[in-house]
Order: sequence, then C-alpha cells, then structure tokens
Amino acid sequence: MSADDQRPANLAIDWTRCDGHGLCAALLPGSIRLDDWGYPVLDQARIAAAEPSDVKRAVSVCPALALRLTRGQ
Ligand code: SF4
Repeated sequence: MSADDQRPANLAIDWTRCDGHGLCAALLPGSIRLDDWGYPVLDQARIAAAEPSDVKRAVSVCPALALRLTRGQ
C-alpha cells in the first residue's frame, strides 16, 4: 500500500455530467446533501471519515459517471 492510499478519500463531481439524480446523497446521507435544485453538496470532512467502501459504492453507482474518487491533501 502506498502512502497515497492512506490519505482520506475526497470526492470530485464532474458538473458537466451530474444531472441531479440524487443517488449519491441517498447512499452517503451524512456526507452529501442535496441543494434546492437536487444537486449534491459535498461535506469533504465527512466523506473522508466515511467508510471507504461506501464512498466507492457511491462512485460506482452514479448513473451519470459524474463522481470521481480523489485523495485528500
Ligand atoms: S448520483 Fe451522480 S448524477 Fe446523481 S446527483 Fe450524485 S453525482 Fe449527480
């Protein structure tokens, strides 16, 4: 395992793809909320503290392929 793998996960959203399905917020309810238009608002501190498998699942099921896993600083 590299040092890079040990840094907490962050999520990035490709806004050109996201169309507000809201599935990510349903899967990570403590870490992602939806704004008034149904688009996700990320709480990166909570995402970093979330179960990594839950974060990866949210990335994999996004129907628009708009989520990407990054590594925190
Ligand atoms: S699941 Fe994907 S498309 Fe839907 S709101 Fe989340 S990031 Fe956007």
